[in-house]
Amino acid sequence: MKNVAVIGGGAAGFFAAIHAAQNGNEVTIFEKGNSLLNKVRISGGGRCNVTHACFEVNDLVKFYPRGSKELISAFYRFNTNHTIDWFESRGVELKTEGDGRMFPVSDLSQTIIDCLLKEAKRNGVKIKTQCGVNAVVLVDSKLILKFANDAEKEFDSVIVTSGGYPSSKNYDWLRDLGINIVEPVPSLFTFNIPNSPLKGLEGVSVSDTLITVEDSKFKYNGPLLITHWGISGPAVLKTSAFAARFIHDLNYNFTASINFIPSFSAIELEELFNQQKKNHPSKKVFSKLFLQLPGRLWERLCAAAGITEGCQYANISKQQMLSLIKNILSYELKVKGKTTFKEEFVTCGGIDLKEVDMKTMESKKIPGLFFAGEVLNIDGVTGGFNFQAAWTTGFIAGSSV
Ligand SMILES: Cc1cc2nc3c(=O)[nH]c(=O)nc-3n(C[C@H](O)[C@H](O)[C@H](O)COP(=O)(O)OP(=O)(O)OC[C@H]3O[C@@H](n4cnc5c(N)ncnc54)[C@H](O)[C@@H]3O)c2cc1C
Repeated sequence: MKNVAVIGGGAAGFFAAIHAAQNGNEVTIFEKGNSLLNKVRISGGGRCNVTHACFEVNDLVKFYPRGSKELISAFYRFNTNHTIDWFESRGVELKTEGDGRMFPVSDLSQTIIDCLLKEAKRNGVKIKTQCGVNAVVLVDSKLILKFANDAEKEFDSVIVTSGGYPSSKNYDWLRDLGINIVEPVPSLFTFNIPNSPLKGLEGVSVSDTLITVEDSKFKYNGPLLITHWGISGPAVLKTSAFAARFIHDLNYNFTASINFIPSFSAIELEELFNQQKKNHPSKKVFSKLFLQLPGRLWERLCAAAGITEGCQYANISKQQMLSLIKNILSYELKVKGKTTFKEEFVTCGGIDLKEVDMKTMESKKIPGLFFAGEVLNIDGVTGGFNFQAAWTTGFIAGSSV
């Protein structure tokens, strides 16, 4: 039997602790805060988006801007199917929403918290709150935890599940162990567009758009929502996640180009407008032409091309037509700043995966030291993928001690 410390009482910490205890170890979770599983509580708007109905490992890893390659083997060991089985076999049934997100049938994150607390108790996991760890020190191959209250304790194995931190210096206690940290930057945010040309269209959404970050390889499809502060929606969140570091390095100051109808090419649109000119010359250009484009947005795109409300197809100039096509296919918005999406955010960066044996989640440099959850340089897009990474890495770390 080993004496195991788990640093952090979040999703990854509980999952790791439960599995380490199941294997007969003496396990203690040390949590610096007053309460446990705080992010689980507030996640998914209080409903906890536990995982995602994506059951092929090769598809699942595509939702992770950081860690996709490294997670392949980990997901073969513990994936979304295992998460569903794990909770269901403990009486927590999950349901799938239309977009693939999975929630407890109760629609309450408390159901997940109760399940994890019950399992921890059942397996004899000890829990210490208000017990922050300031340092882990390696002395003669022994791992010693130094607590905020100056106490010290030796352990056979330590699992670090301290989550993401917003600032680089928060990782210093891990750097002191000689561990490489990939600089943290935020992921999952929406774009601020001061003086937006789309002002007045707040609440308008487009079901399928393609967002491109100018001068980059970053291009992502999905629904887009016009907000009071700029743009949001799955396409924006996906772009913010995959381009997190690139956009950070631009100080959140860049041009986003929006393709409002990715299914059409410029040539096809030109042909369509020429047909309209020929077959419906007296039809007003302002009248809705594309089902998927809300009328108010269509009018705005026309107006931005210099087309006035009463203008008929017969009267639009070649210049106006080309300008309208450009507005439809690459409408430029000047992004300046970011806003957190429903307070949901994750950290891009953390423990460098090159230092971790993904078969065990053990440090390659320090035997007995394990990692799981968001403290690792692993993060996913919204939809339950971040918790899935926490369950998977927590399971592997806990089972490996
Ligand atoms: C508002 C919000 C909503 C979210 N909703 C979802 C969702 O629905 N689905 C999804 O998949 N993801 C969601 N996420 C992301 C998800 O919550 C995190 O990725 C996940 O909680 C990470 O789990 P973790 O255990 O690694 O870290 P955390 O949950 O952050 O837990 C880390 C714990 O370690 C403690 N700690 C830190 N340092 C120390 C120390 N030195 N000593 C002792 N304790 C320490 C912290 O206090 C914390 O309790 C959401 C995030 C936010 C912010």
